[in-house]
Order: sequence, then structure tokens, then C-alpha cells
Amino acid sequence: MIFLDAAATTPVRREVLDAMWPYLTGEFGNPSSHHSLGDAAATALAAARAAVAQVLACRPGEVTFTSGGTEADNLAVKGIALARQAADPALNRVVISAVEHPAVEESARYLERFHAFTVDVVPVDRSGRVTPEALASVLRPGTALISIMYANNEVGTVQPVGRLAALARERGIPFHTDAVQAAGWLPLDVKALGVDALSISGHKLGAPKGCGVLFVRGRTKVEPLVHGGGQERGRRSGTENVAGAVALAAALTLAHAEQASLAQRVTGLRDTFIRAVIDSVPGALLTGHPVERLPSVASFCFPGTSGESVLLELERQGVLCSSGSACAAGSDAPSPVLLALGIASEVAQTAVRFSFDSSVTQAELELAAAAVETAVGSVRNLGK
Ligand code: PLP
Repeated sequence: MIFLDAAATTPVRREVLDAMWPYLTGEFGNPSSHHSLGDAAATALAAARAAVAQVLACRPGEVTFTSGGTEADNLAVKGIALARQAADPALNRVVISAVEHPAVEESARYLERFHAFTVDVVPVDRSGRVTPEALASVLRPGTALISIMYANNEVGTVQPVGRLAALARERGIPFHTDAVQAAGWLPLDVKALGVDALSISGHKLGAPKGCGVLFVRGRTKVEPLVHGGGQERGRRSGTENVAGAVALAAALTLAHAEQASLAQRVTGLRDTFIRAVIDSVPGALLTGHPVERLPSVASFCFPGTSGESVLLELERQGVLCSSGSACAAGSDAPSPVLLALGIASEVAQTAVRFSFDSSVTQAELELAAAAVETAVGSVRNLGK
């Protein structure tokens, strides 16, 4: 099998498993316990927090461990917006882009349903980018938070986060970015990016599922969503997932060290793969930005097919990929992200996403490109 679905998830890296193993076995203490086992767990958690802070160029106290990307996004969007509204009831708007992951979009909709917020949605251009002008045009007095993702999970488009965050800062509005897909592929220095909050998920990076991080800058107030014993400086109660935090820190540290050279190598492979698909499959359409895109994502529409059928045909040929985002998989509705890019509904239904992890090779992508040509051809023939 050739696994080209790394944007959905990745296997746990050997080094990461080795780093977390002691905290699943001998060093199994609860970091809140006042004895040597508890102390060892607390020390490991502090070291993991410091390692994450090192990669993000922030302070350890600005790092909150969560149960994953979804929880980090929920905590950022709901937590920051609710804290600001509590301080000033006139702050009752949130801005999101038209291509956010449901973890952000549904958090914003929750605020609208239950907390009297208005959600302002910034449109994207045909490549999936939010321009600073488009963002400026939706800003109204009363905006409590702006949340715009760093890189899109379906089409790989990378947003000009630095410029968007600068605009937010000029207006004194906190800026959150969902960096779940960007982590490992793009720089994550929160100072350089100028963001106030940033979400990461472990399982996209070679750590296990169920661990994530939310960075929140300095004094930015966050209303907790999970109440209890006050762990994570009151931001996220519950006995900490020490092994998960250690794993995430190890995975992020490795990814950070490898990021520049990996991004360069995989960008080259990605572009060769895109070329091969476009040249061999009549009518194939690359979705997302041609250049400002994740090194790891090649996404297409194949008009005259159905994405699900192409997916099945590719699996028969040994290639695993995705017909849209994993969350939307199994549903026949066209992806809202593709519709937001101005792609017609019947074309959006033909979408297939190939996404790579650090182990991807040229030989695999050559085989995959040949498989795509055959798969699309046979789906189109069946439809005749
Ligand atoms: N945000 C984006 C952009 C994602 O791609 C995903 C997962 O696919 C998430 C958030 C959710 O992360 P998790 O699976 O850790 O909850």
C-alpha cells in the first residue's frame, strides 16, 4: 500500500514512541501527586511544555496541552471570545474564513447559537486565500476574535498569516490560527507570525491521536471550557496526558529540526507529482493555490468522475488517499471548502486529495501518478 493520506493522520514515529513509553509504564505518576512518581510525571510535563515553547518561540506558560486539534480550536475560539465578551458585552462578533476546519467553524456557530455572537465570514479567492483587503472589509466594531487557519486541510492553500495577524494587531483584535496542517511543514515561530493563539495536533506530526497544544499569548484571557481541578493553569482541567504531551513535544521538536529540508524535498516531489497527474489525466484540475500551498498536499478535481469512485479504484491499485477532508468523508455533499473557492458543486464532488508525510519517496509518487491515470480512466469508462 502507498499511504498518501497523511493530512488525515500519520503513524507514531519510533523516536516518539520511545520518548513516551516510560510515561505509559514505569513512570506512570499523576503530575499532581506529592510523591516521587508524581514529581517525575510533573517534571516530564514541564520539560514537554518547555520543548514545545522552544519550537513556538514562546514562554512555557503560554502552552496549554489539550486532547487534540479540535479541542485546541474550541478553546481558542470559544475561550477567547467568551472571555472578551465577559469583559465587554459589546464584543460580540467573531471573524472566521470561509475555509476553516469544522473545529473552528462549529465553535463560532456555537457562539452564535448560545452566546449572541455574530459570525462574520471572510471570503477566499479562487485559490483559497484570504487577502488582507478581504479581511479588512468584514471587520466591524465589536469583533472579539479573528480565527483564520494557517494552511487548509483540503486544498493545502497557505494563508498570509503574518499580514492578516498584523492587521488584527493594528485594530487590537486577538488573532488565532489553526496550524494543525501547517505544523511540520511551515515555520511556527509565533512571534514572527504575530499571532495571539495557535493550535497544533499531535497525530498529524508522528505523535499519537488525542494530544494537542494551544498557544495563547501572554495576558490574553481564555474562559476555560473544561472545569475541574484547575490543571493547565486553570485553562484545561483534567489529569494531564503526560505521555501524550511528551510525545507531542518529541514529535514537534523532530519536525522542527527537519522542517526546512523536508519542505524543500517534498515540495519538489509534490510538483513533479502534480505535473504528472495534470499531463496524464485529461481535464484534471489542481485545486488550491499553485505555489502558496503545503509541500505535503496535492489536491485535484477530476471532472466526469466521482471522487469516491476514484478513491475506491485507487485503493484497489494500492494507493490510499482521501476524497475530501476525513471529517466529510462518507458524505456525498460537496465540500464547503471547494464551494468557497468558487468550484461548481458537480466538480467539487470529483475531488481527490493526496497528502504526504516525511517518508514519501519519488518512486511511490511515480507509481501513484500512474495509478491515478488508470483509476480516473476506468471510472470515466464505467460512467459511459
Ligand atoms: N484543524 C485542521 C486544519 C485539521 O486538519 C484537523 C484534523 O483533520 C483538526 C483541526 C482537528 O484535529 P484533531 O484531529 O487533532 O482533533
